Amino acid sequence: MIEKSNRLTTSWGAPVGDNQNSQTAGQRGPTLIQDVHLLEKLAHFNRERVPERVVHAKGAGAHGTFVVTNNEISKYTKADFLSEEGKTTPMFIRFSTVAGELGSADTVRDPRGFAVKFYTEEGNYDLVGNNTPVFFIRDAIKFPDFIHTQKRHPQTHLKNPTAVWDFWSLSPESLHQVTILMSDRGIPATLRHMHGFGSHTFKWVNAQGQAVWVKYHFKTNQGVKNLDVDLAAKLAGENPDYHTEDLFNAIEAGDLPSWTLYVQIMPIEDANTYKWDPFDVTKVWSQKDYPLIEVGKMTLDRNPENYFAEVEQATFSPGTLIPGIEASPDKMLQGRLFSYADAHRYRVGANHNALPINAPKCPFHNYQRDGQMRFDGNGGNTVYYEPNSFGGPTESPEAKVTPFEVEGMAAEHSYSHDDHFTQAGDLYRLLTEDERTRLVENIVGAMKPVEREDIKLRQISHFHKADPEYGARVAEGLDLAVPVN
Ligand code: NDP
Repeated sequence: MIEKSNRLTTSWGAPVGDNQNSQTAGQRGPTLIQDVHLLEKLAHFNRERVPERVVHAKGAGAHGTFVVTNNEISKYTKADFLSEEGKTTPMFIRFSTVAGELGSADTVRDPRGFAVKFYTEEGNYDLVGNNTPVFFIRDAIKFPDFIHTQKRHPQTHLKNPTAVWDFWSLSPESLHQVTILMSDRGIPATLRHMHGFGSHTFKWVNAQGQAVWVKYHFKTNQGVKNLDVDLAAKLAGENPDYHTEDLFNAIEAGDLPSWTLYVQIMPIEDANTYKWDPFDVTKVWSQKDYPLIEVGKMTLDRNPENYFAEVEQATFSPGTLIPGIEASPDKMLQGRLFSYADAHRYRVGANHNALPINAPKCPFHNYQRDGQMRFDGNGGNTVYYEPNSFGGPTESPEAKVTPFEVEGMAAEHSYSHDDHFTQAGDLYRLLTEDERTRLVENIVGAMKPVEREDIKLRQISHFHKADPEYGARVAEGLDLAVPVN
């Protein structure tokens, strides 16, 4: 007799007699449908994958802690986890590439996802950012089209540079992010050697109900390091999981990566007068205008026990907010408030927030019931509607959203600013001569396969508007002339 604690069972707990041979009618006869262990085993295997994320499919994750290092930050937000110096909050992070599939190579040129879940005492807070401070587009309505260009061609099933540059050249708001992507920082050396950004503007509200706009910057304490393009290409072939492996091994060896979190704070009224629209995610706020203020330190100290349970099933949404932190009118953020949670309902299921990796670590009570894969007590024999006279969970009026004024006509509005060139040019001008040379080489290499000259010329004129030298060098590399407008 095998000890019950160590015996192989079916998923319904019955002991398995033979896990090597299926039941057949005689030694050479067909397999019997009565072999329910075999049927269950094969059927479950067919269902081992959840749909991979349409974007950010390839990822690596780790657990850690966030410690507040600035006692002053609570004057801007009542967020409980930022309330006092030394306050420590457990967190989980998932890094990812954007365009590639689950098995794709880590060392490609792509933005990196930088998604943090803080398990605070007032509920979970997700900061679902990237390793870049800006994004390619600034209205969520363009997101599916943009991602189509990053994915495979419907006929050839190949990546399609013509579509990529056609879309970018027709969406000049992408220029700033394209410049970052094509710069050295487009291929980080490891996940540990890159910054993280909340990218969008959010609203912080303090205990007195006063609000400010905020942007988040996680600065790597390992220093920024990037990969040489030839080495990156070699690694993509030899070890496509290079970044995943590096992160796991560093944490396993006790070489714990950390980031210092800073914020930029903008007074609410500045949004009407600042030289840039602060809700346009294709623009940064100059740090000369809004200096970085230290908030705390994030340290990753524990690898997942199980990749699927913790990394694949982790669900992050920019709408996973807590009192003291609210959305801004950023049109890209507003769309993501819907699309991220919706992706997880489709991918992991309606009860994804009940999974251990996603569940709050503080007490939580709501009136949601039933749904696929409801694996907890489903609220038990307690009151299942609200309002009620039976002592069920009640509202916290202090957690209401801060009132804000809106004005104007309902319509398909664009942003008030259309200068997509100055900040991309500022970045170009901030680079050293060697960095500029590599930037131009990367762009030229990426644009060469574009099949239509008009697309190349349209894009060159954007680089030229950012900085005449930038445009001229890309044009020269492509054997073209900067178009005269
Ligand atoms: P600042 O001089 O105040 O800040 C420059 C910023 O650029 C720093 O955050 C620095 O981060 C970052 N940086 C330095 N070298 C590079 C590089 N090779 N690639 C990408 N980022 C780099 O200037 P401004 O705030 O006025 O911004 C000027 C330009 O800097 C912007 O147009 C933008 O493209 C870029 N930038 C701005 C950020 C911001 O929040 N204002 C954030 C990131 C980039 P670090 O030295 O820590 O690496």
